[in-house]
Amino acid sequence: MNDKNAPVISTGSAVASCLFCKIAAGQIPSRKVYEDEHILAFHDINPWAPVHFLMIPKMHINSMAQVGPEHEALIGRMMALAPRLALEQGCRPYPEGGFRVVTNTGAEGGQEVHHLHFHVMGGPRPWLRG
Ligand code: AMP
Ligand code: ZN
Repeated sequence: MNDKNAPVISTGSAVASCLFCKIAAGQIPSRKVYEDEHILAFHDINPWAPVHFLMIPKMHINSMAQVGPEHEALIGRMMALAPRLALEQGCRPYPEGGFRVVTNTGAEGGQEVHHLHFHVMGGPRPWLRG
């Protein structure tokens, strides 16, 4: 088993070497959009759309595949926060505007960083991707 597939309970190298854990800990800089005790949002370094930020739980969860009932409150908070942050970051209101929330999960889901994150993308089209 390599680091990317290590279980969530692993506190070894999977977490120690995790890019988004380091961003959550302030060890690697990010352009912050929002922060509270459990959640961090920051601009994607390689945006696909005029608005493109990532929402992460501060706790390490490898991906959506590891999300279970114990994460309901956390994931619910993140989803309920997304519309507010999208508007604050410049997405136009629904229905003319709107935004896209994407969670890539696993290799076949296109996941590159194995710390759960939600892409929130919006703004006038065309977009670079998506
Ligand atoms: P995914 O393919 O869903 O795992 O997406 C990972 C995302 O993280 C990509 O959109 C990257 O551009 C973004 N990313 C990688 N490194 C950083 C970083 N240091 N700060 C902000 N975003 C990053
Ligand atoms: Zn992590």
